[in-house]
Amino acid sequence: MSQALQAVMPRWLVPVHPEGCVLEGQAVIIADGRIEAIVPVAQVEERFDQAERVELPDHVLIPGLVNAHTHNAMTLMRGLADDLPLMTWLEKHIWPTEQRWVGPDFVRAGTELAIAEMLAGGTTCFNDNYFFPDVTAGVARRAGMRAVVGLPVIAVPTAWAQTEREYFSRGLAVHQDLVGEELLTTAFAPHAPYTVSDEAFERMRDLAEEMDVPIHLHLLETAGEIEGSLEAHGKTPLDRLDALGLLGPRLLAVHMTQLGVDDIRRVARTGVHVLHCPASNLKLASGICPVADLDAAGVNVAIGTDGAASNNTLDMFAEMRLTALLAKGASGNPEAVPAARALSMATVNGARALGLDERIGTIEVGKSADLAAVALNQPGTLPVHNVISHLVYATGRNQVSDVWVNGRRVLHERELETLDESEVQRAAHQWAARLSEKE
Ligand SMILES: [Zn+2]
Repeated sequence: MSQALQAVMPRWLVPVHPEGCVLEGQAVIIADGRIEAIVPVAQVEERFDQAERVELPDHVLIPGLVNAHTHNAMTLMRGLADDLPLMTWLEKHIWPTEQRWVGPDFVRAGTELAIAEMLAGGTTCFNDNYFFPDVTAGVARRAGMRAVVGLPVIAVPTAWAQTEREYFSRGLAVHQDLVGEELLTTAFAPHAPYTVSDEAFERMRDLAEEMDVPIHLHLLETAGEIEGSLEAHGKTPLDRLDALGLLGPRLLAVHMTQLGVDDIRRVARTGVHVLHCPASNLKLASGICPVADLDAAGVNVAIGTDGAASNNTLDMFAEMRLTALLAKGASGNPEAVPAARALSMATVNGARALGLDERIGTIEVGKSADLAAVALNQPGTLPVHNVISHLVYATGRNQVSDVWVNGRRVLHERELETLDESEVQRAAHQWAARLSEKE
């Protein structure tokens, strides 16, 4: 995609690599979707005089946030059922609603709403797991958002597919359609160990290798999951996945709240990535992922929001703050997950988990220009002693002013450029009315 040269000139620049670095007086030059150069502002006139200048005098520029785990279409079920345990929430509320309503129109409206929410909050890439991934891909493409589109696999019939075999065939067709796309890639998205067969796990293990894609799986979300696995398979979920050859750097394990010391070593040794969703885990009282210990063991931990039905927002600023606070509280160590590390978990660690760290996750020359500008000139983020501290502990997502994905300015002074926000709102109201209809 060819675009005009832009010179983005923030007050502060936080490139994330190296971790903790804050620069001042630097301009980021964007050309053809990429970061062409990072130069002192004084050189912009002389070297890039034809560039469109974007002056951000009170702002910090950061890499676009990477939401490492979400179910976008579930925004339509935001607040539909709260304050319940996971299995009651799923079996009595979420799954029946999905059985009745999920189809292309539902996924289109929910995904548009999710993307509007995420782009306006500084998130430029998401890793999704939901039905009708073809529809998700189409919405992301139109909105100009980067996405890893999950190819769902679950031994439960839905409007998307009836059998595991059909989930594979439909998923593989979606993957085929997306080959060569600039902003869209895929991952296998098996729901959870308790809803996917050994045979399906083995098949996706081989296919993931061939296709060079990750496997994105809810894992060790609750204690009940371990008990159920021992009953059904005579093994814990980790032992079962190990025996099936799934533990490795392709595996993106979401939640991981039930880890002992040996499990942490095994996760570290095998290179499994952990996708941490603290708000969802707390709300469902599933457990607490031992992020401080995983981080200390060298495990790549990335942050996700989970779906809006169990969070109930797709707010990566809130999730970063919660990650840092919860790690300290749970470990009893206030030095655990300092602000700069939390910011890495919301950017480059997500990119690494998704296999995208050569393209996104940091502000470096040669990478795609996926950027978010955050205004700090508000009472809640003044004075500015430490920019990174503010980003994690004090900033609200409504302070995001501008967002670029692959060099395209998709949020311009808080206006969405690629989505019709009033249309997105109208559709959300319509779906709320439909979902509350009695059968
Ligand atoms: Zn989830």
